[in-house]
Amino acid sequence: MKFTVVHYGDPILRQRGARVAAVDDKLRGTIAGMFDTMYEANGIGLAAQQVGLALQLAIIDVRGVKDRPSQLWISGQPADVDAFMPLVLINPTIRPVGEVAAGPEGCLSFPEIYGDVCRPAEVEVQAINDRNESFEFKAGGLLARAIQHEVDHLNGVLFIDRMDSKNRSEVRDEVDTLQADTKKQLKRK
Ligand code: ZN
Repeated sequence: MKFTVVHYGDPILRQRGARVAAVDDKLRGTIAGMFDTMYEANGIGLAAQQVGLALQLAIIDVRGVKDRPSQLWISGQPADVDAFMPLVLINPTIRPVGEVAAGPEGCLSFPEIYGDVCRPAEVEVQAINDRNESFEFKAGGLLARAIQHEVDHLNGVLFIDRMDSKNRSEVRDEVDTLQADTKKQLKRK
């Protein structure tokens, strides 16, 4: 099952996700569909809002990216990032730590639009997985960036909100055009 990825201009991207109440087969079906959708689009992360669901649910898989390293610590010990993927984050809470670093970002809800975003380089994460188990870890590098990008989505925050004014102005025209196109399409429905 594949979803249609929601583009910027659709109001659902500004909605804060509701906490997931039950990790059941229906939710697991949604998660499977989100993975199909993300892999087909060659994405490394996808939030529920991007498939039209305002829920505290995001998925991540950074295995396809070889030129931008990720780090992972479990119980304070370095751990294998690839073995930890794919990652399902349900009702996540994060605590960004470490130095702020700039890095390029894109978003499946903003096709062909890229820009640098400053974020803390490491993040501590607590979440529930798709087996309803609570888990904790610390991430660095690309994984930390992807997690912060996705958890922002769950709160209705988008990467363009995190850009400094210079980077934001560089993509302003493309973003405005995308927003207008999306609103036109929504009206037609
Ligand atoms: Zn995104």
